[in-house]
Amino acid sequence: MRPDPLYARYPFFRAAREAVQRADISPPRLVTQGDPAVERARERVERALMSGTVESETPERWSDRDELLSYPIARILVSLVDMRAAVEKYAEAEADTAHERLQADLNASDDDLQSVSRPRADLDTVLAEFDLADAVTREGDDAHHPWFRVDVAAYLRLVDTDWGDEWRLVNRELAAGEVPVRGEELHRLLREAVRRRVVDGLPFDVRGSAAGDELAAALDDDVTTLRERLADRDRLPSVDVVAPEQFPPCMQAALDGDDLSAHAAFAATAFLVSLGLDADTIAQRWPVLDDDSLDYRVAVLEDKDGSQYPAPSCTTMQTFDACVNPDERCETIDHPLRYYAAAVAEADD
Ligand code: SF4
Repeated sequence: MRPDPLYARYPFFRAAREAVQRADISPPRLVTQGDPAVERARERVERALMSGTVESETPERWSDRDELLSYPIARILVSLVDMRAAVEKYAEAEADTAHERLQADLNASDDDLQSVSRPRADLDTVLAEFDLADAVTREGDDAHHPWFRVDVAAYLRLVDTDWGDEWRLVNRELAAGEVPVRGEELHRLLREAVRRRVVDGLPFDVRGSAAGDELAAALDDDVTTLRERLADRDRLPSVDVVAPEQFPPCMQAALDGDDLSAHAAFAATAFLVSLGLDADTIAQRWPVLDDDSLDYRVAVLEDKDGSQYPAPSCTTMQTFDACVNPDERCETIDHPLRYYAAAVAEADD
């Protein structure tokens, strides 16, 4: 099987699913044969639950086929884990990763498009994928700050009431049944369309047939590990004092800096949300985090329904070169929140 590389980046596209169906690939066989797609599926789910992304830590290891096939296997794994928080976090992570890829694809300049062989999604394809082709019209021709008009019914179908006042219709200049949105707002709506596509039908019943039972048995160890990881995450210390002088070195470096990578901004925001801080407080005290995405990051990270993302562990921080100036205490912990809890306790003593 040599899939369209676009399907490897967007495996939830209908055409990607059909390509898998056409190839007549049996997930039980992939699992029992130890196919690399199964290992990538394990990573996909683990990264989704622990780090809020399904991007691989070692992308060079995986072919387009592995990427594409890992998606249906990841859905089987999430269904077997069968915890609401797992389903929600998995769908959020798929949607976030797709959102990042989509932004990169849609913002690529003509030069990028010519110089990079990897196929990129274009807006028309993505709108058609989610039956929005007739609901979205481009306004003007400013390539850097595009505006769109979105049919009000489609807008209301996708907007979540938790997104904040600026998304309420009363705060939009509704005209002729259409809502004006900026380019990045349209991407946010598309992210939501992806999330809903991913969550649709999850969890499903894997068992109930001989093949399903065999599959569940073959993945049993993976499911147990994922459940344990989720439980571990829930056992992270809860510290509700805010003492920046006790923050771990990585967080101090990030919050004292003036230009954060997307991963460092996510990690620092997740750390502060774990301490119970809201977006306004974060923006006021740490202006370096006060960018266009802060409200959105906090909304995703906040614990509204038990599906809170944990702040990234030290291992994840190291992977993204965000573990900065580790000190002696760092040698005794595996998570920035554990560092902070220990530092606060020691200062109290
Ligand atoms: S070891 Fe952990 S807590 Fe210490 S600086 Fe690195 S990421 Fe931060």
